[in-house]
Amino acid sequence: MKLTILGCYAATPRTITNPTSQVLEIKNRYFLIDCGEGTQVQLRKNKVKFSKINHIFISHLHGDHFYGLIGLISTFMLLNRTTDLHIYGPKGIEEIVKLQLRLSNSWTSYGLFFHILESKESEVVYEDSKVIVKTIPLKHRIYTNGYLFQEKPAERKLNFDAVQEYEIDKCYFQNIKNGKDITLEDGRIIANEKLSFDPPAPMSYAFCSDTVYNEAIIPIIKDVDILYHESTFLESESSLAEKTMHTTAKQAAKIALKANVKQLVLGHYSTRYDNIKLFKSEAETIFPEIILADDGKSFEF
Ligand SMILES: [Zn+2]
Ligand SMILES: [Zn+2]
Repeated sequence: MKLTILGCYAATPRTITNPTSQVLEIKNRYFLIDCGEGTQVQLRKNKVKFSKINHIFISHLHGDHFYGLIGLISTFMLLNRTTDLHIYGPKGIEEIVKLQLRLSNSWTSYGLFFHILESKESEVVYEDSKVIVKTIPLKHRIYTNGYLFQEKPAERKLNFDAVQEYEIDKCYFQNIKNGKDITLEDGRIIANEKLSFDPPAPMSYAFCSDTVYNEAIIPIIKDVDILYHESTFLESESSLAEKTMHTTAKQAAKIALKANVKQLVLGHYSTRYDNIKLFKSEAETIFPEIILADDGKSFEF
C-alpha cells in the first residue's frame, strides 16, 4: 500500500503548499482522494500516471477538497481518455460538474459516472475482488464523508513441500488456496493448515477530513493500519477548531489511540502555522506513532 500526498493544507493554496488531495495505491488500484485546486500539477510533479486514475473519492464540497476536479476531468478529455471515470461524493457534485461542462460547451470522451452519497451511516461505495471501500460519516459544517479502504483477505499460500509429500494433483491447488481440506484417494482427510500457509494480513487505510472531534467514527476505523486524520489546528486554537468544526493535533491523536490504529498520519494543517513539526510534538503526547503528511511525500506501508 502506498500513499502519495499531493496536498495536505487547509483553505487557500500557496506557492509552497496545496489543498487536499492524495493518491492511495492499494492492490494495484489507484484511488484519488479529494481533488483540491492544483491536483493535476501535483499529479505530474509526483509522476502519477493520469490514466491509472479511474475512481475519485470526494469528501465534501468545500473548495479546498474539490476545486481541482473540473480541471482534471477536462484534461482527461484532452488526453483522449476512453476509460470510464467514477466519482464518489456528496449530493450536488454531479450538478456542479455538469453545469461547468455544459456552460463551457465541453463534454467527455469517456463515461463519467457519479455515485452520489447521502447516507449518514457508513456504507460500501466500491467493491471488487481485492478491495472494498466504505464511507466514514464525519461531522463538519456541511455533509462530509471520510473513506475506509480495506484489502480483502488474500488467498492462502500453497505449501509446496506438503502437497508434494501427499502427492496432491494440481487441480486441487485452487481449493487449497481457498482454504478447503483435501480428501486423498485412500480416504484420509488432510487439513488445509497442513497444506497451506496464512496469507499476509490485509491492510487498511482510513481517510478522515474534514471533521470536528467525533468519537462516533471509532467503531468504523477500529484497528486500521493507517489513519489519516485532519489536524487543522494546534491546542492554542482549540476553541477555533470547535467553532469551525475541525480537529486539533491532540484530538486526532486521541481518536487514533481510542481506535487502536497502528499509525496516524496528520494533515490538513491551517496555513497560519510556519512549523508543522509542532503538530507532531503535540500529538505525540497522546499517541506515539505519528507521521506528518506533507505535499509531495509518499509513504509505503
Ligand atoms: Zn478542508
Ligand atoms: Zn471543509
